[in-house]
Amino acid sequence: MGYFSIKKLDGTTYYIKEKLGVGCYLFLGENGALLSDTGNGYGDLRRVVDKIVGGKPLTVMNTHGHADHAGGNDQFGRVYIHANDLHMLEGEWQRSQREKLTVYIKKNYPVLTPLVWFLTRKRYTPIATKPDVLGNGHVFDLGGRQIETIHVPGHSPGSVVLLDRQTKALYAGDAVNPGLFLFFAESPTPKEYAKVLRGLTQLSGYEKLRISHGDITLPFDFIAYYADFLERATLEKSKLTPIPNERPVYKYSEPAGKYPAKEIAVNFTKQEL
Ligand SMILES: [Zn+2]
Repeated sequence: MGYFSIKKLDGTTYYIKEKLGVGCYLFLGENGALLSDTGNGYGDLRRVVDKIVGGKPLTVMNTHGHADHAGGNDQFGRVYIHANDLHMLEGEWQRSQREKLTVYIKKNYPVLTPLVWFLTRKRYTPIATKPDVLGNGHVFDLGGRQIETIHVPGHSPGSVVLLDRQTKALYAGDAVNPGLFLFFAESPTPKEYAKVLRGLTQLSGYEKLRISHGDITLPFDFIAYYADFLERATLEKSKLTPIPNERPVYKYSEPAGKYPAKEIAVNFTKQEL
């Protein structure tokens, strides 16, 4: 197996996961395909995707602008992203984020350092990418299958989630997962973000929730459970983490209960609680 592992879900949806843990989703319709996220940009994702898609027209989008989700954009010509995360696509910003991750890995997971060094050597020829602004509620029509996007600001100002009625699944990017990051400069407080998530719980007709970091399917009710969890977070019950950030990052966690995860956590800064 190479750097990417490919898992087929629901017949016409694929989860393409990198060795470093993050994954992209590929949705196939009758007339076209949609790739959600492009990963860290290590390895030739384009080749893997083209092989699955065949000759169908491919549309590419980012759930948000973080470097582990938009790092491979330069393998594709046009990429949709929400206007609020557009600034994150600038080369300098992406480089600074990757640099932070490398320093963190060197310090906390030295055993992975040779792998990261190896991966940073590009194996494809980058092309000039033109971002397309993704409006709220944008629908990608793939022919017999429509993927709708909803703006869910929090993890980043321009985060979007994807809704697929065909598979009754919500694809959350990093907007909901068992270990949410809410420690960035523009992040809301956990309590503010709980309110944003309550909006998603009003959606009907969805049974599953899929996330970017991990090959797990959560029941849709995890969103409501997670919103309640965020309300319980307090600084007193949190621990300081080694996550590199301008301000110290704290983690509040609880056992995962019925959900398929090691624990449920939120990472935030003191100022944001
Ligand atoms: Zn992210």
